[in-house]
Amino acid sequence: MTHALKTGGDRGYLRIATEEAWATQEQFDAIMRLVKEGRADEGTVSLWGFYGSSPSERTTFIRERLLDIGELRIQAMDESGIDKAVLALTSPGVQSIFDVEEARRIARNSNDKLKAACERYPDRFYGMIAVAPQDAEWSVGELHRGKEELGFHGVQINSHTHGHYLDEPQFEPILRACADLDLPLYIHPQGLPDAMIGDMVGAGLDGAIFGFAVETSYHAMRLLTTGVFDRYPNLQLMLGHGCEGLPYMLYRLDYMHKAGLRSGRYPRLKPLQHDLFHYMRNNVLATNSGLPFGPAIKTMIEVMGEDRVMYAMDYPYQYVPDEVRLMDDLDITAAQKKKFFQTNAERWFKL
Ligand code: CA
Repeated sequence: MTHALKTGGDRGYLRIATEEAWATQEQFDAIMRLVKEGRADEGTVSLWGFYGSSPSERTTFIRERLLDIGELRIQAMDESGIDKAVLALTSPGVQSIFDVEEARRIARNSNDKLKAACERYPDRFYGMIAVAPQDAEWSVGELHRGKEELGFHGVQINSHTHGHYLDEPQFEPILRACADLDLPLYIHPQGLPDAMIGDMVGAGLDGAIFGFAVETSYHAMRLLTTGVFDRYPNLQLMLGHGCEGLPYMLYRLDYMHKAGLRSGRYPRLKPLQHDLFHYMRNNVLATNSGLPFGPAIKTMIEVMGEDRVMYAMDYPYQYVPDEVRLMDDLDITAAQKKKFFQTNAERWFKL
């Protein structure tokens, strides 16, 4: 142990954790009902069949901690030196639910409950809006309510909604509202859709170990290559888990995107106003959730710029106080570290 973890900025910066998960009992029960009735997709069965019912120490801890947005969480933040947490309804939100009325109700109730917690701990908790992309028009209304009435700071969408992606036209009102309201759009992984999952469950690779990054980076690439950021140049897309690997691959992504455009290989891909480097440096923000790994963080800072990379713990899925110490000891400049832990989150989430 190199140093004690304290809140309050004793190392020159506050620590703001930006991808922290919570759940409501209502959400949990609705998803587990789908799993038990055999109606959930394979990715949800794998994810929530495990987290929702495994008796292991890890999953029991996670279930208990997800449902708490009170003293237990504050205590964990105090013990790991986390000053503030940006909270979002855990994956898959309500996006696995088929009954749209039920999805809307659970999302709305969760937003109200999160608002109450943020009022109880106004200098510790900040809210992300939960929506039900199954109903884009309703979601637009909830984005307005979330920003204007609840005072929330962004929206988390848990990647695909029943196999559909945000670049599809039915979701355009959601993208437009995020841009109009200046709300960052955090795309967080969830279980892979049936059309993609293949044998990943059999291989033991569908979840956070690998499949999440495959599917979520695919989602982001769909947005990046279809002109979303030409239509909404101020829209900010947030990606966790080391930006789902995209910065590491950016040269090849951009090279092959341009090569495909030149040769007219895919009818769907049209020329864009900028190359992919531009969008990654102007419209994409990254967090290191689940990835307290110096080489990955330094690569993101180098590729995307030091103003676009933020700290996240991914509590309660990855609650490891020693990882906070590792991040304190990261060999980046003091100015970069303050941006990483504090001021980038304050700027982009408008805290
Ligand atoms: Ca997470």
